Amino acid sequence: MNTPAKPSENAILLHACCGPCSIMSVQILRDRGYAPTLFFHNPNIHPLTEYLRRREGLLDVAARMHVPVLLADQLRPPASVDQPASVDQPASVDQPASVDQPAGPAQPAGPDLGFGPAAAHPGPWLSAMAALGPGMDDMAQRCPRCYEIRFVATARVARSQGYVCFTSTLLYSRYQNRRAILAEGERQAGPDLAFLPEDFRPGLLEGVRLSKQWGIYRQQYCGCLLSEHERYKRLLEIETEKPDTASE
Ligand code: SF4
Repeated sequence: MNTPAKPSENAILLHACCGPCSIMSVQILRDRGYAPTLFFHNPNIHPLTEYLRRREGLLDVAARMHVPVLLADQLRPPASVDQPASVDQPASVDQPASVDQPAGPAQPAGPDLGFGPAAAHPGPWLSAMAALGPGMDDMAQRCPRCYEIRFVATARVARSQGYVCFTSTLLYSRYQNRRAILAEGERQAGPDLAFLPEDFRPGLLEGVRLSKQWGIYRQQYCGCLLSEHERYKRLLEIETEKPDTASE
């Protein structure tokens, strides 16, 4: 794994969901003059074996493209600095969630957002979805929450490591809720950290081609168990529609 150096002026932290989506996202950013560092933080990927396959695919892409990569499951929780309201850090007397905090020593690390091995544990992510109740079956409700969880961590790492800009490979996908991604990116940005609303979709065909040529693992569902169920529930329906031959 390449180790990122101190961010340069054109550095950008690129939240990465997987290898295939990272290829052209990295390339497009480089074509624009940015120096991206990949950041893998995806507690929404279930089960763990799937998480590991996508993580491995990302590392493969990073090695091939010589791009630095940060893995949330290998990081210690970053120290808190000025940041907008977060899903895990509600405003409180001890930890105001304001962007107007006066300059001073870094804030305490705050509640663990899921760094180190905890970053691969689905518990906090599932709890966040459970809080939606029946709304968890509605992608319009659960996906924005999922973006929020990942972008809170991305913005936190970006600020703690001195990046002034971040974006996400989620903007490469034609299946994701682009409007919600852009809104969440803006919500996590602030005077000290910009969100780049790049459109990586023009690289889609080339990204598919290269990921196949390089043998990068290509997933069949978005990430969570709910999306896996939505992807494959038809199999169950087909099974139920079969005539009952057992009793013949
Ligand atoms: S479908 Fe994808 S974006 Fe939506 S909640 Fe599941 S993993 Fe997150």
